[in-house]
Amino acid sequence: MSVTTDQQHATNESYHVAIIGGGPAGLQAALVLARAGKRTVVFDSAEPARNAPSHGVHNFLGLDGLLPSEIRDLAWRQIEAYGGAERRTVEVVRVTRDTHKPFVVYDAEDRQYTADHVIAAFGYRDALPELPGFGACWADTIIACPFCDGFENRGRIWGVVPGPGCGLVASAQMAKHWGSQVLAFVPPSTQLTEQELATLAALQVDVHAGQIAQLHHRDGKLEGVSLDSGSRVAVETLLWEPPRTRAPLLNRMVEDLGLDVSDKGIVESDGRQGTNVPGLYVAGDLLGWTGALGAAGGGNVAATRIIKEWFARN
Ligand SMILES: Cc1cc2nc3c(=O)[nH]c(=O)nc-3n(C[C@H](O)[C@H](O)[C@H](O)COP(=O)(O)OP(=O)(O)OC[C@H]3O[C@@H](n4cnc5c(N)ncnc54)[C@H](O)[C@@H]3O)c2cc1C
Repeated sequence: MSVTTDQQHATNESYHVAIIGGGPAGLQAALVLARAGKRTVVFDSAEPARNAPSHGVHNFLGLDGLLPSEIRDLAWRQIEAYGGAERRTVEVVRVTRDTHKPFVVYDAEDRQYTADHVIAAFGYRDALPELPGFGACWADTIIACPFCDGFENRGRIWGVVPGPGCGLVASAQMAKHWGSQVLAFVPPSTQLTEQELATLAALQVDVHAGQIAQLHHRDGKLEGVSLDSGSRVAVETLLWEPPRTRAPLLNRMVEDLGLDVSDKGIVESDGRQGTNVPGLYVAGDLLGWTGALGAAGGGNVAATRIIKEWFARN
């Protein structure tokens, strides 16, 4: 069984399945397809993955605590053992399809490929705030998900910041599980209702109004924040989910394929990884935050569905 890697194929290669994105969603799909003997290509951008700064991926059964790069390396070793799956480290910039013809996938280096099915598994990007100290603390003591990094931050003074996914009160309730004390930082753009303020008071959460202007830390361990008023507040961990940016490829898929995507940039699915575009499936964070295990589960469903539909036709 041959294993193929970058640069071994010329353009216009054709595949049963093209997978766009080499995170847990795309790689789990590739594993299933490789084991079913389907000619598969996985495109993965050369840019570091969104979770690359993670100090260890948690709540991923059997892989708990491994670095994202270690999980990807391990996954590729297992996929390549079956042959038939190729990896291409290049960004996909466009996918088109004429009715009843295969999809055409275009990469950023002007190569084209055809595929009978496409699995979109390219996730999203975080728009990290450009604040002094944020980058050093991100994925260590500034975290987006308490289930991912809460244990590592247990017993510290937590602060919660409004984010796109979870409301401030719900974030504070979760932070209480892991923090020794919880504070809420409320920027001027967020208006809390009387009910929300009462709930925060009942939770013994101190509310600090104002925009965070600077983060103070020692080697990525947060020690406090300065607000734009100039006041400094001691806090050791921030639960802060940054806004998401919509991938340019997603916009192209909406334009070229008519893919249904919500205003929030979430791909509309039929609940079994199918989309409104026949032959195009979706898995992972493109469906909203799934976590690593959920992303892998979605990749599994997409790949098995493609194979079962192929059995039904042949
Ligand atoms: C800092 C951090 C820590 C996290 N910790 C945990 C944790 O502990 N436990 C947990 O369950 N979850 C964690 N998550 C969430 C988890 O990483 C994601 O939910 C999961 O990786 C989503 O998988 P995915 O396959 O959908 O997308 P991703 O893992 O984001 O993979 C998408 C891939 O597609 C590539 N790509 C994007 N656009 C293109 C394109 N146009 N062409 C080709 N390739 C493209 C990207 O480079 C990337 O490699 C964390 C996230 C972050 C940011």
